[in-house]
Amino acid sequence: MTAKIPFFLDGDKSKAICPHCKALVSTTFCRRDIPFESGNDVVKDLLVAVCDTCRGIVATPAQSTPAIHEAKDKLSSQQGSLP
Ligand SMILES: [Zn+2]
Repeated sequence: MTAKIPFFLDGDKSKAICPHCKALVSTTFCRRDIPFESGNDVVKDLLVAVCDTCRGIVATPAQSTPAIHEAKDKLSSQQGSLP
């Protein structure tokens, strides 16, 4: 009982509420390049849950958020160096 957070891998199946379908759908985990809201950059190879019905991204597992923070830190430090 060391890890309580489930760890997902490529191709893992799960179920989640899809914000696009507004229903409980089955999801598949896969790696995607996720664009930031700003649209200026993407997070490469982020493991996310994809809706099997509409292929939309349903969730980014907690294990993936450090990658987002890391990429955001990189982005903000780049922007900070601009004149
Ligand atoms: Zn969906």
